[in-house]
Amino acid sequence: MVSKSVLVVEDEEDIRKLLSYTLLKEGYEVAGVASGEAALASAESQPPDLVLLDLMLPGVDGLTVCRQLRRSPRTAGAAIVMLTAKGEEADVVAGLNAGAHDYITKPFSRNVLIARVRAALRNAGSSAAAAPPESDGILTIHNLVIHPGKHLVLVDERSVELTATEFRVLEALARKPGWVFTRQQILDAVHGDIYAVTDRAVDVQIVGLRRKLGPAGRYIQTVRGVGYRFKE
Ligand code: CA
Repeated sequence: MVSKSVLVVEDEEDIRKLLSYTLLKEGYEVAGVASGEAALASAESQPPDLVLLDLMLPGVDGLTVCRQLRRSPRTAGAAIVMLTAKGEEADVVAGLNAGAHDYITKPFSRNVLIARVRAALRNAGSSAAAAPPESDGILTIHNLVIHPGKHLVLVDERSVELTATEFRVLEALARKPGWVFTRQQILDAVHGDIYAVTDRAVDVQIVGLRRKLGPAGRYIQTVRGVGYRFKE
């Protein structure tokens, strides 16, 4: 199997080395650069499968790099995962709008890094095929039909009663099958609907969801040390 290539763009040397070392050990080919200019030059000459992109860079910033990568035909297909510091939420939104697939908040754990890199590569490689069929936002996946407008979930054509929060959690996960969500990202996705905003509160929602979905509850998978995902 040909190993996937990752371009690590991070001006802080310690973090760049840590990222590179972790990804190398996972079997990826890794190149590291410290600036936006170097990132664009490297990506253009040797397009990577994935770019791990720090947003706060001296000179050409991460958002600009992200837009340029998307615009160039050579790099438009690369997966982009942003690296952000806490408090850069506005940048995260801008980055996702600029074509990034995902983001990781620093400081990050090894497990989160690897899970997100894998998921982004999988998603970029099959974005058309993996996108669930949609019409009017209706989502059909496995034996589930999710109607956001009607707030209705059907399992094998039988409706299932969910709370508003359970519904939002299910929809967030099922819209991106195979993607691993941390508990914090699930909380973000439901916009703080969960009353006690703790990891434990997310687990409680998941337990309720699985129980109500019956056998279809097995599609909500636990990813040890990271969070949850909806089975592809
Ligand atoms: Ca930085």
